Amino acid sequence: MSGYLDARPRVGYFYTGKSNDHILSDKVKTITVGHYKSRPVVVTESSSVYEAVTTMFLEDVGTLFVVDKLSTLSGVVSRKDLLRASLGQQSLESIPVGVIMTRMPNVTVCEDQDSIIEVAKKLINKQIDGLPIVKKVSHGSGYEVTGRITKTNMTSLLVDLANNETI
Ligand code: ADP
Repeated sequence: MSGYLDARPRVGYFYTGKSNDHILSDKVKTITVGHYKSRPVVVTESSSVYEAVTTMFLEDVGTLFVVDKLSTLSGVVSRKDLLRASLGQQSLESIPVGVIMTRMPNVTVCEDQDSIIEVAKKLINKQIDGLPIVKKVSHGSGYEVTGRITKTNMTSLLVDLANNETI
């Protein structure tokens, strides 16, 4: 009866007045990104477009996160960014991903404790497939990449909700 009944001292159990819809929406709002994240796949700024395409195939992901020499987040590369780069005449081995990526501070990020629904809204509003999950580096500025949250993770959440199996 979780959500339907609540308890008060000396009163006992009482009906909360919440409908199924309210209970589901309350539950979803407590779910954080950390519960549904995936492993991040990262390349360095100096990696070539050719290497990035190969990494995407080998790792079976649609978005790569790009880091600088200090391993802090510097950008994001998507499938279409790589397709666009491959339309030119230049050889793919000679173009560094640092040149074609979407660069910080224009990268939308999130943190482990963020609400999964707020992140889903970011995916919709920004029309992107995924977000890096980040942590501020302890000294200096910038972010270290700790995870990845994508539309696929959102689909897993939907299935878990339907099966009543959310964390
Ligand atoms: P695709 O381009 O393969 O459809 P996306 O829709 O995710 O994949 O990417 C669209 C554009 O948004 C690309 O130029 C990409 O670099 C950029 N992008 C992807 N993820 C992010 C993000 N988290 N923050 C900012 N820009 C992003």
